[in-house]
Amino acid sequence: MCWCGARAAHNARTLGGEMVVEGEQVVVGDVNRPAAEVGYEVLCRRHHRRRMTSASVSIAGQLP
Ligand SMILES: [Zn+2]
Repeated sequence: MCWCGARAAHNARTLGGEMVVEGEQVVVGDVNRPAAEVGYEVLCRRHHRRRMTSASVSIAGQLP
């Protein structure tokens, strides 16, 4: 299940909670940050397309 409750359709690779796309040139400014851990997260089709991981949503939700 995706974090939104929809059926998960994709398995996304994450780096520090942010989705990373295989084969895509990714610029990571905090490569030396110890908290930038590699992980996996399942996402529905829509949120995979928008690269919205549960971590990115929770971070956005903390904005004023
Ligand atoms: Zn979703």
